[in-house]
Amino acid sequence: MPKLIDLTGERFGRLTVVRKSTDKEQFKSTSARWYCLCECGTEKTFAAQALSRGFTKSCGCLDAEVKTKHGMYGTPTYRSWNSMIARCTNPKAPNFANYGGAGVTVNERWKDFASFFEDMGQRPIGATLDRKDSRGNYEPGNCRWATDTQQQRNKSSNHMLTANGETRCISEWAELTGIKKVTIRARVRKGWTHTAAVNTPPEPRRSRNAE
Ligand SMILES: [Zn+2]
Repeated sequence: MPKLIDLTGERFGRLTVVRKSTDKEQFKSTSARWYCLCECGTEKTFAAQALSRGFTKSCGCLDAEVKTKHGMYGTPTYRSWNSMIARCTNPKAPNFANYGGAGVTVNERWKDFASFFEDMGQRPIGATLDRKDSRGNYEPGNCRWATDTQQQRNKSSNHMLTANGETRCISEWAELTGIKKVTIRARVRKGWTHTAAVNTPPEPRRSRNAE
C-alpha cells in the first residue's frame, strides 16, 4: 500500500487541512480524504489528490466569487481556461494523454481563473488558447489567443496539425483517423486546411462491383 502522506496543517489556497477524514469508505474512494476548514468558515472533506494537484483551493466560495466578480463563468474565456485545466490535470479529460499525461502542466498562478484572466484577457472570437512552444507548458509568456491560421502556421514546421480543437503530429492523426500519413501530408502540401486534411475520409477505392 502506498504510504499515506500526512497533509495535516497544510494550506491549499483558502483551505487548511484539519485532519484525515474517516469517511473514506462512505465515498468508496481509494484516495485518502482530508477534512478541511475554508477561510470562509465552511468545513468540507476533499480527496488528497484533488488538493495536491492544486485545483481545489476553496470550499467553492472562491469560484462563486470569480463568477460574481468577473461575470465570466461559462463565457468562452472561462471555458478555455476550464478545459486547459481539465486536459492537464484530469485523467478522465478526453485529451489528457497529450497534455497532462505527456507532462504538460499549468502554471501555479493560472490554476486560479482570475489570475489567468488578468494575464490573458478575453478570448477573441474564433481564437483558441495556443502555446507558442508546443512542448512548453501553459504559463505566462508561452501562451496567446491564436486564430486557426496562426496556429497552423506555427505548427506546420514540426508536422503538427491542429483540427477539432486538438494539436497532434501527423502520425497521431493517421492512427486516430485511419487515413494514411502520406495522404494527410500530401493534402496539407496541396493547401488543404488541417481540419479538412484529417476529417475527410480517403477516396474509396474504385470497385468494379460498385454501381
Ligand atoms: Zn470557502
